[in-house]
Amino acid sequence: MTDSTPSPSGSAPPRRSRPKRRIFLESRYQKLVRGLPQTIFYCPECKGDRRRRKGCKHCDGFGKLYKDSVQELLGRRLLPAFKAKFGKFHGAGREDVDVRMLGRGRPFVYEIVEPRVFDVDLEAVVEEFHRRDGERVRIDAFERVEKPRVAVLKDAAYEKVYRAEVGFDGDVDAAKLTALVGQKFTAAQRTPQRVAHRRGDLERLRDVEVLAVDEIEARGCEIEIRCQHGTYVKEWISGDDGRTEPSLAGLVGVGAQCVALDVLEILDRPQQ
Ligand SMILES: [Zn+2]
Repeated sequence: MTDSTPSPSGSAPPRRSRPKRRIFLESRYQKLVRGLPQTIFYCPECKGDRRRRKGCKHCDGFGKLYKDSVQELLGRRLLPAFKAKFGKFHGAGREDVDVRMLGRGRPFVYEIVEPRVFDVDLEAVVEEFHRRDGERVRIDAFERVEKPRVAVLKDAAYEKVYRAEVGFDGDVDAAKLTALVGQKFTAAQRTPQRVAHRRGDLERLRDVEVLAVDEIEARGCEIEIRCQHGTYVKEWISGDDGRTEPSLAGLVGVGAQCVALDVLEILDRPQQ
């Protein structure tokens, strides 16, 4: 897949290819289910390469680790409508595969590369999208935007509100949990063990505020927290073997894990 044919050796410099035509569509998505990645989740072994994936044991030759993604569900409706072969997904950050994205959803721009149709009934596309996949993903009406919106969304450092279901390794003192409500912490977070192989080991400071603690049981609770952009929430709960300090586990003195996580809101606008 190259844009231009190679010029014969020693001849004139290659023709400059005309810039690709692109359409940028902005919206927000809510992801109502777990186990759905935001973008195509290629197999880490074969990277989805057509030739290498054959015989790849990690993905059984599928090339991907998940059948679908938000990106692919969108592409299935948008690309045929615009008679385009390729689309790109630009999200304002991303949530983990197993995390739901609720509230008003996450802003994104879907980029249509080389459309052959320009006059598309976008309302009808959204309707069809919801008819097919609305139980998993909901989207707002699309708005045509210009390319610079992509960079704005990519660089955005929005605070987020999360709700986590927490499991404790032993009995937890309910009074210690309720005492956290309204408290703010600045957590020093070393890169989590689960991503250190990709990102390198750094330490960063992130503010976390406990908004509510509910459903308190001997070995579990639900906690709502407001976090600075880029907080590793699962590690703020567990402490990640001392790599995040303070952590919920440390604050209550009992080992803790995040059992389930939802993004409740991305605070990209002043709240009422
Ligand atoms: Zn593979």
